[in-house]
Amino acid sequence: MDMQPPPESPVTPLFPLFADLRGRAVLVVGGGAVAHRKVETLLEAGAAVSVAAQILEPAPRQLVENRHLRQHQGAFEPAWLDGVWLVVAASGDAALNRRVAEAAAARRIFANVVDDAETSSFHVPARVRRGRLQVAISSGGAVPVLARRLRERLEAELDESLGALAELFARERARIRWRFPRTAERRRFFEQVLDGDLPRLLRVGDHEAARHAFECALATGAPEPRRGSVALVGAGPGDPGLLTLKALRALQEADVILHDRLIGPGILDLARRDAERIDVGKRVGNDHDATQSRIHALMLQHARAGQRVVRLQGGDPLVFGRGGEELEFLRAHGIPHEVIPGITAAVAGAAAASVTLTDRRHARSITLLSPRGGTPLDAAALSAPGQTLAVYMGVGELETFSRSLIANGRGAGTPCVLVENASLPEQRVLRSTLQELPALARARSVRAPALLIVGEVAAEPQSAAHDERCRDETPLVAHAA
Ligand code: SAH
Repeated sequence: MDMQPPPESPVTPLFPLFADLRGRAVLVVGGGAVAHRKVETLLEAGAAVSVAAQILEPAPRQLVENRHLRQHQGAFEPAWLDGVWLVVAASGDAALNRRVAEAAAARRIFANVVDDAETSSFHVPARVRRGRLQVAISSGGAVPVLARRLRERLEAELDESLGALAELFARERARIRWRFPRTAERRRFFEQVLDGDLPRLLRVGDHEAARHAFECALATGAPEPRRGSVALVGAGPGDPGLLTLKALRALQEADVILHDRLIGPGILDLARRDAERIDVGKRVGNDHDATQSRIHALMLQHARAGQRVVRLQGGDPLVFGRGGEELEFLRAHGIPHEVIPGITAAVAGAAAASVTLTDRRHARSITLLSPRGGTPLDAAALSAPGQTLAVYMGVGELETFSRSLIANGRGAGTPCVLVENASLPEQRVLRSTLQELPALARARSVRAPALLIVGEVAAEPQSAAHDERCRDETPLVAHAA
């Protein structure tokens, strides 16, 4: 049998257009939820909407009343289309919708029939909106789901600050035209401004600096070349789905990524393909200060070369990382920078084990702590009941840590949860008590990264039907050491 695909038939594409509906009459036929949504978007575009419906559901009725919209009642009359620029048939009654579309065609009025591409003479695209900037997507009615998927991707990709960028240009239109009367000049100006510092300044919300950059560019005709910058970005606990949208955007814009050793390929793969990835992770046995100096030197070198550097760290960059020193270094060297937070291990571990860190029945506070390095812990203060402890980098110190809490009065039976590789496929959740935890962790060979939660909030959930991911927990046996 011939399995050749049929030759592609030529497609007549829809003609895309953005309509200015301010003050123009538009009729929406229908009184349910779909019609309601249509009325809302049309009102947002400034249209003079009237609604044709026998019965209005409560929400659209309220809208009609609040906005003093005209309502037609009774059987549909083609005369309702007089003076109308567009009509949307959203009645849920296919025969009525078709009659509306036919009456519209007879009057040469464009009609959209919801969920009926064939009958519609205009389609409403899926769209991504950032202020006045809009991206409209259409599959010509073939696969609306595909258009919607694409929309979701663009939603994730396009920073909110693009709206402010478009607004700035709109506001300054007259001055830009006056300064650069020739189209070619003007285009070069726009290109240069967009490649310069201005978009980044708006993204970090520094409107004053953005304004200044714009004025300089307008005055000199040539914006200063883009300065290099560094973003300290939190990658979250490991699951790429737990990145923030801002972190994702920073990764996709980065020229250079300085990442910790534990950042998995699932996250690094989200960066631009040609971005340079440099593993700057600290390793056991390495000189950590030398590693940190190298990170500083790399940030400086690449930022000075005008590159966009992302310093990518596990969890949140300002929780138990060297974020503080890095910020200080960036400030001291006048390198433009921003911090993009991430989901820290305490929060990810709690989610993995379904622990309510601040359940008001059991805890008034939560302390993030690490038994390693720095100033000694105040074991007496940490041993008071009614508080939750989230312990980072504690796997090697479980024995000493738990013994010291118990010695200071925290009950030996205080519930504990140890979460290894939170959010990753190899995640393990071990529940125990302060007393028995070290032996259990040893017996199960728990390794870093693992997060320990201590406190009444960590007690075994009452219901057996708790979170799916906890279900493969091995039964709670106290392993005697
Ligand atoms: N900045 C990071 C912490 C870095 S210190 C954050 O905000 O999460 C490294 C420690 O974090 C590890 O020793 C471990 O205690 C904890 N940690 C990081 N990722 C983890 C994960 N996926 N699961 C459990 N603990 C994690």
